[in-house]
Amino acid sequence: SRREERPEVRVILAAPRGFCAGVRRAIDAVRDALNVHGAPVYVRRAIVHNLEVVRSLEAEGAIFIEELWEAPEGSVVLFSAHGVAPAIAADARRRGHIAYDAVCPLVAKVHREVERHERNGRQLILIGHRGHPEIEGTLGHLRSAKAFVVNSVAEIADLPMRPDEPTAYAVQTTYSVDDAQEIVEALRTRFSDLVEPASSDICYATTNRQAAVREVAAQADAIIVAGESFSSNANRLAEVAALTCPSVQLVASATDIDWSKLPRNGVIGVTAAASTPETTVQDIIEALSVRYRVILEELEAMRELTVFKRLAIA
Ligand code: SF4
Repeated sequence: SRREERPEVRVILAAPRGFCAGVRRAIDAVRDALNVHGAPVYVRRAIVHNLEVVRSLEAEGAIFIEELWEAPEGSVVLFSAHGVAPAIAADARRRGHIAYDAVCPLVAKVHREVERHERNGRQLILIGHRGHPEIEGTLGHLRSAKAFVVNSVAEIADLPMRPDEPTAYAVQTTYSVDDAQEIVEALRTRFSDLVEPASSDICYATTNRQAAVREVAAQADAIIVAGESFSSNANRLAEVAALTCPSVQLVASATDIDWSKLPRNGVIGVTAAASTPETTVQDIIEALSVRYRVILEELEAMRELTVFKRLAIA
């Protein structure tokens, strides 16, 4: 039969993958706000970097805006998981909004760190991607706004500070663990009075997803990363996979799969960014099952138990 003609592939799902505790909490906050206040509620920026999530919340009555002035004064607004500058929260108070901040507690932890470094008179270096909302929000927590954002070892040479200047660094929570390590080594070489985070700023979810995809990529002929092209943690997963796997593709949905990049036989690994719903992964498996006889397995690199307390919405 036609069924038997399909080539066979092993599909290895990376675990952990997909939603992290911060993303779940932010999505729950929007739903709770809709339940408590009724539609519409306004969400400043994408609550998490995933269009499917945004569309489903829109269907439930959320309205996504770029800036606060787009929401009527006094309306209910939520801030995204990536965090905002205190100036945005102050603006919301001025405009009479009922505002909820769905910032991930692990991003908020970085905000407290950089504030402390600034109080202690340290020059700040942020390892991260310029223009990403998390970096913008973190910069907004500095009064003097005197922080340098670096994204490569090469940029360390251009930093204008003296080698003995009191310095500290913080890292974007979704940064590449390997790249951060290299940049940190360069900072240690360059600065004699460097304060480092007590524990990594790169969050547990980023660290675990990168470790898991690395294990899968080592045995796969191709890797599919489910995530948006504008998601930082999704792009980092694809980069980590590409270190060992010759064919890696980042797809927002199953319909984006480039079939020419997949092997006729062999092993296909699948993972998903922290903002990607599991339904997207299931759609990808279904699409693979149309073309292949799929032998499905999961490789669990580590168990993940982190859950955050729900944001209080009243
Ligand atoms: Fe929080 Fe990490 Fe998830 Fe970002 S990726 S929302 S920092 S747990």
